Amino acid sequence: MTSSAFDIAILGAGPVGRVLALMLARVAPDPARIALLAGAAPAPVTPAAAVPAADPRVLAMNHGSRVLLESLHAWPERSADIRNIHVSQRGRLGRTLIQNTDFGVPQLGSVVAYSGLYARLDECVAASGVTVLSGPPAQIGRQDADGVRIQQGDAELLCQVAVQSDGAGATDVRRDYDQHAVLTTAHATLPRRGWAWERFTSEGPLALLPHPQTPDAYSVVWCAAPDRAAELAALDNAAFSQALSQAFGDRLGRLSSHAPRHVFPLALSARRAQVHGRVAAIGNAAQTLHPVAGQGLNLGLRDAARLAQTLTPWLAHPAGNPGAALAEFAQARHIDRFITAGLTDLMPRAFATGLAPVEHACGLALLGMDLASPLRAPLAQHLLQGFRA
Ligand SMILES: Cc1cc2nc3c(=O)[nH]c(=O)nc-3n(C[C@H](O)[C@H](O)[C@H](O)COP(=O)(O)OP(=O)(O)OC[C@H]3O[C@@H](n4cnc5c(N)ncnc54)[C@H](O)[C@@H]3O)c2cc1C
Repeated sequence: MTSSAFDIAILGAGPVGRVLALMLARVAPDPARIALLAGAAPAPVTPAAAVPAADPRVLAMNHGSRVLLESLHAWPERSADIRNIHVSQRGRLGRTLIQNTDFGVPQLGSVVAYSGLYARLDECVAASGVTVLSGPPAQIGRQDADGVRIQQGDAELLCQVAVQSDGAGATDVRRDYDQHAVLTTAHATLPRRGWAWERFTSEGPLALLPHPQTPDAYSVVWCAAPDRAAELAALDNAAFSQALSQAFGDRLGRLSSHAPRHVFPLALSARRAQVHGRVAAIGNAAQTLHPVAGQGLNLGLRDAARLAQTLTPWLAHPAGNPGAALAEFAQARHIDRFITAGLTDLMPRAFATGLAPVEHACGLALLGMDLASPLRAPLAQHLLQGFRA
Protein backbone atom coordinates (compact mmCIF):
# COMPACT_ATOMS: atom_id res chain seq x y z
CA MET A 1 0.00 0.00 0.00
CA THR A 2 1.26 3.50 -0.91
CA SER A 3 0.26 6.54 1.07
CA SER A 4 0.40 10.26 0.27
CA ALA A 5 -0.93 13.53 1.66
CA PHE A 6 -2.80 16.34 -0.08
CA ASP A 7 -4.56 19.53 0.95
CA ILE A 8 -7.63 18.77 -1.15
CA ALA A 9 -8.63 15.55 -2.93
CA ILE A 10 -11.31 15.75 -5.62
CA LEU A 11 -13.01 12.39 -6.31
CA GLY A 12 -14.39 12.29 -9.83
CA ALA A 13 -12.94 14.02 -12.88
CA GLY A 14 -16.13 14.91 -14.75
CA PRO A 15 -16.63 18.52 -15.86
CA VAL A 16 -17.47 19.76 -12.36
CA GLY A 17 -14.50 18.10 -10.64
CA ARG A 18 -12.15 19.32 -13.36
CA VAL A 19 -13.39 22.91 -13.15
CA LEU A 20 -12.91 22.87 -9.38
CA ALA A 21 -9.37 21.53 -9.85
CA LEU A 22 -8.56 24.31 -12.34
CA MET A 23 -9.93 27.02 -10.08
CA LEU A 24 -8.05 25.73 -7.05
CA ALA A 25 -4.83 25.36 -9.06
CA ARG A 26 -4.94 29.09 -9.73
CA VAL A 27 -5.00 30.05 -6.06
CA ALA A 28 -3.12 27.20 -4.38
CA PRO A 29 0.44 27.99 -3.23
CA ASP A 30 1.37 24.51 -4.54
CA PRO A 31 -1.12 23.08 -7.10
CA ALA A 32 0.51 19.65 -6.81
CA ARG A 33 -1.08 19.40 -3.34
CA ILE A 34 -4.50 19.26 -5.03
CA ALA A 35 -5.28 15.67 -6.10
CA LEU A 36 -7.82 14.89 -8.82
CA LEU A 37 -8.86 11.22 -8.65
CA ALA A 38 -9.98 10.19 -12.10
CA GLY A 39 -11.50 6.80 -11.46
CA ALA A 40 -14.10 5.37 -13.79
CA ALA A 41 -17.72 5.19 -12.68
CA PRO A 42 -18.56 1.76 -11.30
CA ALA A 43 -21.90 1.57 -13.14
CA PRO A 44 -22.29 3.93 -16.10
CA VAL A 45 -25.82 5.01 -17.04
CA THR A 46 -25.26 4.10 -20.68
CA PRO A 47 -22.44 2.17 -22.32
CA ALA A 48 -21.33 5.39 -24.07
CA ALA A 49 -21.13 7.27 -20.77
CA ALA A 50 -18.44 4.84 -19.62
CA VAL A 51 -16.11 6.59 -22.06
CA PRO A 52 -16.38 10.39 -21.70
CA ALA A 53 -14.90 10.89 -25.18
CA ALA A 54 -17.91 9.01 -26.58
CA ASP A 55 -20.58 10.51 -24.30
CA PRO A 56 -23.45 11.54 -26.63
CA ARG A 57 -24.82 14.35 -24.41
CA VAL A 58 -24.88 17.93 -25.55
CA LEU A 59 -25.17 20.57 -22.85
CA ALA A 60 -26.84 23.98 -22.90
CA MET A 61 -24.50 26.28 -21.01
CA ASN A 62 -25.77 29.58 -19.66
CA HIS A 63 -23.94 32.87 -19.88
CA GLY A 64 -22.43 32.54 -16.40
CA SER A 65 -21.03 29.07 -17.16
CA ARG A 66 -19.51 30.28 -20.40
CA VAL A 67 -17.83 33.23 -18.71
CA LEU A 68 -16.44 30.88 -16.05
CA LEU A 69 -15.13 28.34 -18.59
CA GLU A 70 -13.66 31.05 -20.79
CA SER A 71 -11.86 32.56 -17.82
CA LEU A 72 -10.22 29.15 -17.33
CA HIS A 73 -9.44 28.88 -21.10
CA ALA A 74 -11.60 25.77 -21.02
CA TRP A 75 -14.33 26.75 -23.46
CA PRO A 76 -14.37 24.06 -26.20
CA GLU A 77 -13.48 24.96 -29.76
CA ARG A 78 -16.90 24.06 -31.09
CA SER A 79 -20.14 25.45 -29.69
CA ALA A 80 -23.48 26.68 -31.02
CA ASP A 81 -25.11 29.86 -29.77
CA ILE A 82 -28.73 30.07 -28.63
CA ARG A 83 -30.30 33.46 -29.28
CA ASN A 84 -33.97 32.48 -29.06
CA ILE A 85 -35.71 29.88 -26.91
CA HIS A 86 -39.19 28.84 -27.89
CA VAL A 87 -41.20 27.00 -25.23
CA SER A 88 -44.55 25.49 -26.15
CA GLN A 89 -47.01 22.79 -25.27
CA ARG A 90 -48.29 20.25 -27.72
CA GLY A 91 -52.06 20.47 -28.25
CA ARG A 92 -52.51 23.54 -26.02
CA LEU A 93 -52.60 27.27 -26.38
CA GLY A 94 -49.69 29.25 -25.11
CA ARG A 95 -46.04 29.54 -25.81
CA THR A 96 -43.24 31.68 -24.53
CA LEU A 97 -40.40 33.17 -26.48
CA ILE A 98 -37.22 34.21 -24.73
CA GLN A 99 -34.83 36.27 -26.84
CA ASN A 100 -31.33 37.58 -26.36
CA THR A 101 -32.56 41.10 -27.20
CA ASP A 102 -34.80 41.02 -24.08
CA PHE A 103 -31.69 40.90 -21.98
CA GLY A 104 -29.32 42.92 -24.17
CA VAL A 105 -26.88 40.00 -24.47
CA PRO A 106 -25.32 38.54 -27.65
CA GLN A 107 -26.67 35.08 -26.85
CA LEU A 108 -28.83 33.47 -24.20
CA GLY A 109 -26.60 30.47 -23.93
CA SER A 110 -24.47 28.10 -25.94
CA VAL A 111 -24.50 24.39 -26.60
CA VAL A 112 -21.37 22.28 -26.22
CA ALA A 113 -20.80 18.55 -26.56
CA TYR A 114 -20.02 16.78 -23.27
CA SER A 115 -17.16 15.01 -25.06
CA GLY A 116 -15.75 18.30 -26.45
CA LEU A 117 -15.91 20.02 -23.08
CA TYR A 118 -14.35 17.01 -21.38
CA ALA A 119 -11.46 16.94 -23.87
CA ARG A 120 -10.76 20.66 -23.46
CA LEU A 121 -10.85 20.41 -19.67
CA ASP A 122 -8.50 17.45 -19.88
CA GLU A 123 -5.89 19.58 -21.69
CA CYS A 124 -6.28 22.41 -19.18
CA VAL A 125 -5.95 20.09 -16.18
CA ALA A 126 -2.82 18.49 -17.67
CA ALA A 127 -1.21 21.94 -17.81
CA SER A 128 -2.44 23.11 -14.39
CA GLY A 129 0.08 21.41 -12.09
CA VAL A 130 -2.65 19.51 -10.22
CA THR A 131 -1.80 15.88 -9.35
CA VAL A 132 -4.01 13.57 -11.42
CA LEU A 133 -4.36 10.05 -10.02
CA SER A 134 -5.97 7.58 -12.41
CA GLY A 135 -7.05 4.21 -11.15
CA PRO A 136 -10.01 2.26 -9.89
CA PRO A 137 -13.00 4.11 -8.35
CA ALA A 138 -11.95 5.94 -5.19
CA GLN A 139 -13.72 5.50 -1.84
CA ILE A 140 -13.97 7.98 1.01
CA GLY A 141 -13.05 6.39 4.33
CA ARG A 142 -12.69 7.55 7.93
CA GLN A 143 -12.33 11.23 8.82
CA ASP A 144 -10.88 12.65 12.05
CA ALA A 145 -8.78 15.58 13.25
CA ASP A 146 -5.92 14.49 10.96
CA GLY A 147 -8.05 14.66 7.84
CA VAL A 148 -9.97 12.31 5.53
CA ARG A 149 -8.67 8.97 4.31
CA ILE A 150 -9.33 7.96 0.73
CA GLN A 151 -8.76 4.58 -0.82
CA GLN A 152 -8.01 4.18 -4.52
CA GLY A 153 -7.13 0.59 -5.26
CA ASP A 154 -4.00 -0.20 -3.23
CA ALA A 155 -3.20 3.45 -2.58
CA GLU A 156 -4.33 5.38 0.49
CA LEU A 157 -4.46 9.17 0.54
CA LEU A 158 -4.81 11.52 3.47
CA CYS A 159 -6.30 14.90 2.66
CA GLN A 160 -7.58 17.85 4.69
CA VAL A 161 -10.68 18.32 2.54
CA ALA A 162 -12.32 15.72 0.28
CA VAL A 163 -14.67 16.80 -2.49
CA GLN A 164 -17.07 14.30 -4.01
CA SER A 165 -17.67 15.12 -7.68
CA ASP A 166 -18.23 11.56 -8.85
CA GLY A 167 -21.78 12.20 -10.04
CA ALA A 168 -23.20 9.71 -7.53
CA GLY A 169 -24.41 9.20 -3.99
CA ALA A 170 -27.11 11.89 -3.73
CA THR A 171 -29.85 9.72 -2.28
CA ASP A 172 -31.52 11.72 0.55
CA VAL A 173 -34.21 13.10 -1.76
CA ARG A 174 -35.25 10.98 -4.70
CA ARG A 175 -37.94 11.17 -7.33
CA ASP A 176 -38.13 8.69 -10.15
CA TYR A 177 -39.87 10.41 -13.08
CA ASP A 178 -40.59 7.10 -14.73
CA GLN A 179 -39.06 8.72 -17.81
CA HIS A 180 -36.05 8.04 -19.97
CA ALA A 181 -34.41 10.51 -22.36
CA VAL A 182 -33.73 9.48 -25.94
CA LEU A 183 -30.76 11.39 -27.35
CA THR A 184 -29.98 11.73 -31.01
CA THR A 185 -29.31 14.23 -33.80
CA ALA A 186 -31.79 15.41 -36.45
CA HIS A 187 -31.71 17.54 -39.58
CA ALA A 188 -34.52 19.94 -40.50
CA THR A 189 -35.68 21.00 -43.94
CA LEU A 190 -36.17 24.57 -42.63
CA PRO A 191 -33.42 25.03 -40.00
CA ARG A 192 -33.28 28.23 -37.95
CA ARG A 193 -29.86 29.18 -36.73
CA GLY A 194 -29.62 30.22 -33.12
CA TRP A 195 -32.99 28.79 -32.06
CA ALA A 196 -33.61 26.23 -29.31
CA TRP A 197 -36.97 24.59 -28.78
CA GLU A 198 -38.56 23.10 -25.69
CA ARG A 199 -41.87 21.40 -26.31
CA PHE A 200 -43.91 19.88 -23.53
CA THR A 201 -46.00 16.91 -24.56
CA SER A 202 -48.18 14.64 -22.46
CA GLU A 203 -45.43 12.00 -22.82
CA GLY A 204 -42.74 14.34 -21.54
CA PRO A 205 -40.59 17.25 -22.72
CA LEU A 206 -38.92 17.28 -26.12
CA ALA A 207 -35.99 19.64 -26.67
CA LEU A 208 -34.18 20.51 -29.89
CA LEU A 209 -30.92 22.38 -29.42
CA PRO A 210 -28.63 23.72 -32.15
CA HIS A 211 -25.90 21.12 -32.58
CA PRO A 212 -22.40 22.27 -31.57
CA GLN A 213 -20.59 20.08 -34.06
CA THR A 214 -22.88 19.94 -37.10
CA PRO A 215 -24.21 23.25 -38.50
CA ASP A 216 -27.96 23.31 -39.18
CA ALA A 217 -28.47 20.05 -37.26
CA TYR A 218 -30.31 19.72 -33.95
CA SER A 219 -29.51 17.73 -30.91
CA VAL A 220 -32.70 15.98 -29.77
CA VAL A 221 -33.52 15.20 -26.12
CA TRP A 222 -36.84 13.41 -26.09
CA CYS A 223 -38.20 12.36 -22.70
CA ALA A 224 -40.85 9.66 -22.48
CA ALA A 225 -41.98 6.73 -20.35
CA PRO A 226 -39.35 3.95 -20.28
CA ASP A 227 -41.36 1.63 -22.57
CA ARG A 228 -42.04 4.39 -25.05
CA ALA A 229 -38.39 5.51 -24.97
CA ALA A 230 -37.28 1.94 -25.70
CA GLU A 231 -39.80 1.78 -28.53
CA LEU A 232 -38.56 5.10 -29.98
CA ALA A 233 -34.95 3.98 -29.70
CA ALA A 234 -35.74 0.77 -31.59
CA LEU A 235 -37.61 2.36 -34.52
CA ASP A 236 -35.96 2.42 -37.93
CA ASN A 237 -34.74 5.84 -39.08
CA ALA A 238 -37.76 6.60 -41.24
CA ALA A 239 -40.29 5.72 -38.54
CA PHE A 240 -38.35 7.61 -35.88
CA SER A 241 -38.10 10.71 -38.11
CA GLN A 242 -41.82 10.59 -38.68
CA ALA A 243 -42.62 10.22 -34.98
CA LEU A 244 -40.28 13.11 -34.18
CA SER A 245 -41.82 15.40 -36.80
CA GLN A 246 -45.25 14.54 -35.47
CA ALA A 247 -44.38 15.28 -31.85
CA PHE A 248 -42.46 18.46 -32.63
CA GLY A 249 -44.76 19.98 -35.25
CA ASP A 250 -43.77 21.74 -38.45
CA ARG A 251 -41.89 24.79 -37.16
CA LEU A 252 -38.65 23.49 -38.68
CA GLY A 253 -40.18 21.82 -41.69
CA ARG A 254 -39.62 18.05 -41.78
CA LEU A 255 -37.20 16.43 -39.35
CA SER A 256 -35.06 13.47 -40.29
CA SER A 257 -32.68 11.51 -38.11
CA HIS A 258 -30.08 8.95 -39.16
CA ALA A 259 -27.83 9.17 -36.10
CA PRO A 260 -27.46 6.56 -33.32
CA ARG A 261 -29.90 6.90 -30.41
CA HIS A 262 -28.92 6.68 -26.74
CA VAL A 263 -31.23 6.26 -23.77
CA PHE A 264 -30.63 7.88 -20.33
CA PRO A 265 -32.88 7.11 -17.33
CA LEU A 266 -34.09 10.29 -15.56
CA ALA A 267 -34.50 10.92 -11.86
CA LEU A 268 -34.08 13.68 -9.35
CA SER A 269 -31.73 12.80 -6.56
CA ALA A 270 -30.23 15.18 -4.07
CA ARG A 271 -28.38 15.34 -0.79
CA ARG A 272 -29.95 17.46 1.91
CA ALA A 273 -26.56 18.51 3.28
CA GLN A 274 -23.75 19.34 0.90
CA VAL A 275 -21.10 19.10 3.63
CA HIS A 276 -20.34 16.39 6.18
CA GLY A 277 -17.37 17.29 8.33
CA ARG A 278 -14.45 17.68 5.94
CA VAL A 279 -16.28 16.21 2.94
CA ALA A 280 -18.20 18.41 0.45
CA ALA A 281 -20.30 17.19 -2.48
CA ILE A 282 -20.69 19.20 -5.70
CA GLY A 283 -22.28 18.78 -9.12
CA ASN A 284 -24.28 15.63 -9.76
CA ALA A 285 -22.86 14.11 -6.59
CA ALA A 286 -24.85 16.77 -4.69
CA GLN A 287 -27.91 16.82 -6.97
CA THR A 288 -28.85 15.11 -10.22
CA LEU A 289 -31.66 16.92 -12.03
CA HIS A 290 -34.12 16.22 -14.82
CA PRO A 291 -32.51 17.69 -17.96
CA VAL A 292 -35.71 19.59 -18.89
CA ALA A 293 -34.27 23.05 -18.48
CA GLY A 294 -30.61 22.19 -19.07
CA GLN A 295 -29.54 23.14 -15.57
CA GLY A 296 -27.52 20.24 -14.09
CA LEU A 297 -24.06 21.21 -15.17
CA ASN A 298 -24.75 24.93 -14.88
CA LEU A 299 -25.71 24.38 -11.25
CA GLY A 300 -22.72 22.09 -10.69
CA LEU A 301 -20.33 24.72 -12.02
CA ARG A 302 -21.78 27.24 -9.58
CA ASP A 303 -21.11 24.70 -6.79
CA ALA A 304 -17.49 24.40 -7.96
CA ALA A 305 -16.98 28.16 -8.29
CA ARG A 306 -18.36 28.86 -4.81
CA LEU A 307 -16.35 26.07 -3.20
CA ALA A 308 -13.13 27.33 -4.78
CA GLN A 309 -13.95 30.84 -3.60
CA THR A 310 -14.67 29.84 0.00
CA LEU A 311 -11.65 27.54 0.25
CA THR A 312 -9.19 30.12 -1.11
CA PRO A 313 -8.33 31.88 2.20
CA TRP A 314 -8.01 28.52 4.01
CA LEU A 315 -5.77 27.15 1.25
CA ALA A 316 -3.16 29.81 2.06
CA HIS A 317 -2.78 28.11 5.51
CA PRO A 318 -4.08 24.56 5.05
CA ALA A 319 -2.86 23.39 8.45
CA GLY A 320 -5.92 25.13 9.94
CA ASN A 321 -9.37 23.57 10.29
CA PRO A 322 -11.41 23.95 7.07
CA GLY A 323 -14.74 23.54 8.93
CA ALA A 324 -15.75 27.22 8.88
CA ALA A 325 -15.04 27.58 5.15
CA LEU A 326 -17.01 24.44 4.33
CA ALA A 327 -19.97 25.54 6.48
CA GLU A 328 -19.96 28.91 4.70
CA PHE A 329 -19.96 27.09 1.35
CA ALA A 330 -22.97 24.95 2.28
CA GLN A 331 -24.94 27.93 3.50
CA ALA A 332 -24.13 30.02 0.42
CA ARG A 333 -25.31 27.28 -1.96
CA HIS A 334 -28.57 26.43 -0.23
CA ILE A 335 -31.03 28.79 -2.01
CA ASP A 336 -29.66 28.29 -5.53
CA ARG A 337 -29.80 24.49 -5.19
CA PHE A 338 -33.28 24.59 -3.72
CA ILE A 339 -34.72 26.88 -6.42
CA THR A 340 -33.03 25.23 -9.39
CA ALA A 341 -33.87 21.68 -8.29
CA GLY A 342 -37.43 22.79 -7.42
CA LEU A 343 -38.05 24.41 -10.81
CA THR A 344 -36.63 21.55 -12.84
CA ASP A 345 -38.62 19.09 -10.72
CA LEU A 346 -41.86 21.01 -11.16
CA MET A 347 -41.77 21.61 -14.91
CA PRO A 348 -41.90 18.05 -16.30
CA ARG A 349 -44.53 17.02 -13.76
CA ALA A 350 -46.77 20.04 -14.28
CA PHE A 351 -46.78 19.53 -18.04
CA ALA A 352 -47.37 15.81 -17.97
CA THR A 353 -50.34 15.50 -15.64
CA GLY A 354 -52.68 14.35 -18.42
CA LEU A 355 -55.37 16.51 -16.75
CA ALA A 356 -56.75 19.02 -19.23
CA PRO A 357 -57.36 21.88 -16.74
CA VAL A 358 -53.87 21.57 -15.32
CA GLU A 359 -52.27 21.42 -18.75
CA HIS A 360 -54.37 24.33 -19.91
CA ALA A 361 -53.31 26.34 -16.88
CA CYS A 362 -49.71 25.54 -17.74
CA GLY A 363 -50.27 26.73 -21.30
CA LEU A 364 -51.80 29.93 -20.03
CA ALA A 365 -48.96 30.36 -17.62
CA LEU A 366 -46.55 30.19 -20.55
CA LEU A 367 -48.68 32.63 -22.50
CA GLY A 368 -48.86 34.90 -19.49
CA MET A 369 -45.13 34.72 -19.07
CA ASP A 370 -44.69 35.75 -22.68
CA LEU A 371 -46.95 38.75 -22.29
CA ALA A 372 -45.80 39.85 -18.89
CA SER A 373 -42.07 40.25 -18.98
CA PRO A 374 -41.83 41.06 -15.25
CA LEU A 375 -43.10 37.54 -14.61
CA ARG A 376 -40.95 35.92 -17.24
CA ALA A 377 -37.72 37.74 -16.62
CA PRO A 378 -36.86 36.33 -13.17
CA LEU A 379 -37.46 32.75 -14.36
CA ALA A 380 -35.41 33.20 -17.51
CA GLN A 381 -32.74 35.11 -15.63
CA HIS A 382 -32.41 32.29 -13.15
CA LEU A 383 -32.39 29.51 -15.75
CA LEU A 384 -30.09 31.33 -18.13
CA GLN A 385 -27.66 32.96 -15.78
CA GLY A 386 -28.16 31.41 -12.39
CA PHE A 387 -27.56 33.17 -9.12
CA ARG A 388 -24.29 34.94 -8.81
CA ALA A 389 -22.22 34.45 -5.73
C1 LIG B 1 -29.78 13.68 -21.33
C2 LIG B 1 -29.11 14.73 -20.49
C3 LIG B 1 -29.04 16.04 -20.94
C4 LIG B 1 -28.44 17.03 -20.15
N1 LIG B 1 -28.42 18.33 -20.61
C5 LIG B 1 -27.88 19.28 -19.84
C6 LIG B 1 -27.83 20.63 -20.29
O1 LIG B 1 -28.30 20.96 -21.38
N2 LIG B 1 -27.26 21.58 -19.48
C7 LIG B 1 -26.75 21.25 -18.26
O2 LIG B 1 -26.26 22.15 -17.54
N3 LIG B 1 -26.78 19.97 -17.80
C8 LIG B 1 -27.33 18.99 -18.56
N4 LIG B 1 -27.33 17.70 -18.12
C9 LIG B 1 -26.73 17.39 -16.81
C10 LIG B 1 -25.20 17.25 -16.90
O3 LIG B 1 -24.85 16.25 -17.83
C11 LIG B 1 -24.65 16.89 -15.53
O4 LIG B 1 -25.18 17.76 -14.57
C12 LIG B 1 -23.12 16.98 -15.50
O5 LIG B 1 -22.54 16.07 -16.40
C13 LIG B 1 -22.61 16.71 -14.09
O6 LIG B 1 -21.22 16.76 -14.08
P1 LIG B 1 -20.40 16.10 -12.88
O7 LIG B 1 -18.96 16.36 -13.19
O8 LIG B 1 -20.97 16.52 -11.58
O9 LIG B 1 -20.72 14.53 -12.98
P2 LIG B 1 -20.41 13.51 -14.16
O10 LIG B 1 -20.51 14.18 -15.49
O11 LIG B 1 -21.29 12.34 -13.88
O12 LIG B 1 -18.89 13.08 -13.93
C14 LIG B 1 -18.51 12.31 -12.78
C15 LIG B 1 -17.17 11.64 -13.08
O13 LIG B 1 -16.72 10.94 -11.91
C16 LIG B 1 -16.23 9.64 -12.29
N5 LIG B 1 -16.41 8.75 -11.12
C17 LIG B 1 -17.52 8.08 -10.75
N6 LIG B 1 -17.30 7.38 -9.62
C18 LIG B 1 -16.02 7.63 -9.26
C19 LIG B 1 -15.21 7.23 -8.17
N7 LIG B 1 -15.66 6.41 -7.21
N8 LIG B 1 -13.94 7.68 -8.10
C20 LIG B 1 -13.45 8.51 -9.02
N9 LIG B 1 -14.18 8.92 -10.09
C21 LIG B 1 -15.44 8.50 -10.20
C22 LIG B 1 -17.09 9.27 -13.50
O14 LIG B 1 -16.42 8.33 -14.32
C23 LIG B 1 -17.25 10.62 -14.20
O15 LIG B 1 -16.18 10.87 -15.10
C24 LIG B 1 -27.90 16.68 -18.89
C25 LIG B 1 -27.95 15.36 -18.44
C26 LIG B 1 -28.55 14.40 -19.23
C27 LIG B 1 -28.60 12.98 -18.71
